[in-house]
Amino acid sequence: MAEHTRGRVLIAGGGVGGLAAALAARRAGAEPVVVERSTEPTRSAGTAFNLWGNAITALERIGLRDAVLAVGDPIERMCLSDHRGHPIGETPIGKIGAGLGTASVNIRRADLVGILAEACRDAGIPLRLGAACTGYTPALGGGVTAHLADGATEHGDVLIGADGARSAVRQVLLGDGDPVESSHPIRGIGRIAPGVQPNTVSMAWGPRGGGVGCWPLGGDAVSWTVGTTSALRARIAGGTPVKDAVLAFLADFPEHFTALVRSTPESAIVTSPVLVRPEAGQRGVGPVTLLGDAAHAMPTVFAQGACQALEDAAVLGEEIARTPDLVSALRAYEARREARVAWLRKRVFTMDRLQKVENRLLCKVRNTFTRKAPAEKSEQGWRAMMTFDLAPAG
Ligand SMILES: Cc1cc2nc3c(=O)[nH]c(=O)nc-3n(C[C@H](O)[C@H](O)[C@H](O)COP(=O)(O)OP(=O)(O)OC[C@H]3O[C@@H](n4cnc5c(N)ncnc54)[C@H](O)[C@@H]3O)c2cc1C
Repeated sequence: MAEHTRGRVLIAGGGVGGLAAALAARRAGAEPVVVERSTEPTRSAGTAFNLWGNAITALERIGLRDAVLAVGDPIERMCLSDHRGHPIGETPIGKIGAGLGTASVNIRRADLVGILAEACRDAGIPLRLGAACTGYTPALGGGVTAHLADGATEHGDVLIGADGARSAVRQVLLGDGDPVESSHPIRGIGRIAPGVQPNTVSMAWGPRGGGVGCWPLGGDAVSWTVGTTSALRARIAGGTPVKDAVLAFLADFPEHFTALVRSTPESAIVTSPVLVRPEAGQRGVGPVTLLGDAAHAMPTVFAQGACQALEDAAVLGEEIARTPDLVSALRAYEARREARVAWLRKRVFTMDRLQKVENRLLCKVRNTFTRKAPAEKSEQGWRAMMTFDLAPAG
């Protein structure tokens, strides 16, 4: 284990980004401490991630590639169809990943956070649970003091705000208010059904907006998500139980989507909104920086939020290792992340707008346009998303 000589790195938030940042900081020779609001961070509702090749490359840099690949279910392809099941496009995710020396998997959020938390425990990183950060003040004589909800304080030479889209650290740093609700997906984990393709992320766009997707998690578990339309949301707001409303919405879609929803208990269906920051804003000042959703919460299109949090963590660790002092390391980290995140966010927000179209004719035009687009162009985009080059800039 590295000598802890590079200073104390205080991290607010023990989710995917915060725990990965703690591991990266420890590998770089710093002394990380994590304060996490929840008392049970590894207990998360029935949701699962697509972790693309760029995230696996980032996990490799913190020593967890094999642990995650051992638990995740490999993704070989991504298939997009219309609601009748007519193909719109297919992307060879496995082939693209192999060309980049990486792989992509589906994994339960709880499993990923569990692997990260266990690695932190093994590395002796303190994880203070039930400790909500309410803000911070720069400390006299250097560093920063984080204030906790129970009145306690924690000191760090630097503070990393990895406390999610509603980040308290961000509020002190930028004061730019709450994130906005971008979409209202409904999701769950059902039992495998005939028609679910192995090793495939399947998405189907709806005739008047919205859509549905599913991806196997290994064993008989399959994660599904429904992109809601305003009509579906109105129905639920009008009192129709969520599961009934979703089943009615899916009536014209391929049968396996309906089967997945049917096999999911109503109580295990998750309806929380996706929170985003339309403007990423500045990442850091002085001894404080932001990471993951606190820095750049984005729509779930392309499923890159957690992947980007992992990239952030890997770069932060690399800059801590190679930059003489911690505050300079934060600035170097921010500089290295700027272009990559800006490029990705532009892509994500553009596709998000396209997926929110609810006019029937425009949906048809979108489907035709996407179907006719050269496959190589889509592959290029995926290759770029899955390419995470950690080589230091200079
Ligand atoms: C429906 C949905 C599907 C998604 N699918 C994917 C996907 O397939 N692939 C993908 O890569 N991404 C996906 N994402 C995005 C992904 O969930 C986030 O981008 C990712 O979780 C960000 O990680 P984070 O650590 O920055 O934030 P979070 O995961 O939000 O973690 C923040 C942590 O900080 C804690 N916390 C909050 N406030 C405080 C505080 N004041 N003090 C201390 N601790 C605090 C929280 O309890 C939490 O543990 C999806 C998101 C949604 C909503």
